[in-house]
Amino acid sequence: MSTIRIHDREFVKSISREEIAAEIKRVAERINKDYAGKRPLLLGVLNGCFMFVSDLMKNLEIECEVSFVKFSSYQGADTTGTVKQVLGLAESIAGRDVIIVEDIVDTGLTMHKMLETLAESKPASLAIASLFLKPARLRVDVDVKYSAFEIPDRFIVGYGLDYDGLGRNLPDVYDVKE
Ligand code: 5GP
Repeated sequence: MSTIRIHDREFVKSISREEIAAEIKRVAERINKDYAGKRPLLLGVLNGCFMFVSDLMKNLEIECEVSFVKFSSYQGADTTGTVKQVLGLAESIAGRDVIIVEDIVDTGLTMHKMLETLAESKPASLAIASLFLKPARLRVDVDVKYSAFEIPDRFIVGYGLDYDGLGRNLPDVYDVKE
């Protein structure tokens, strides 16, 4: 078993890069089918989404565009429960098919706020693709149409996800050691 240390915590490898690649391919195949003949705008939520957006897009065969927004809600390993928009949307999404690309949906508060904000700009459609989803942690009703992994209520790092700024570069995903 592969264990690493980040700051003050130990983490154990839980999902390999091969498993991640296979699940992203599966999600991309669904999007290729569902958006055939359309030109969706992938809207990545920084910072955690960058690896997922990259690998997802490489598996998309349909025409598609990409842009990014930024929210911040997390300090270390605990949610503050508050969600703030830090960086807004550069282009108009009116009439566009928008796919929000998120690293992980935890309480769902970030995505809830995001859907609310984006809906005001009247996109043709809005869907969420999240690499990870923690169903046991959801506090609001959010429809995550495309989720690659449903995971237990444990803090994870790697593949774009950080612990206090570190760990985003790890190609595999690690669970915090209790
Ligand atoms: P939510 O608003 O759904 O509670 O939180 C979503 C955000 O919280 C994610 O985009 C991510 O930044 C952060 N987050 C939630 N769970 C985890 C986790 O297990 N590990 C890391 N690194 N970040 C998480």
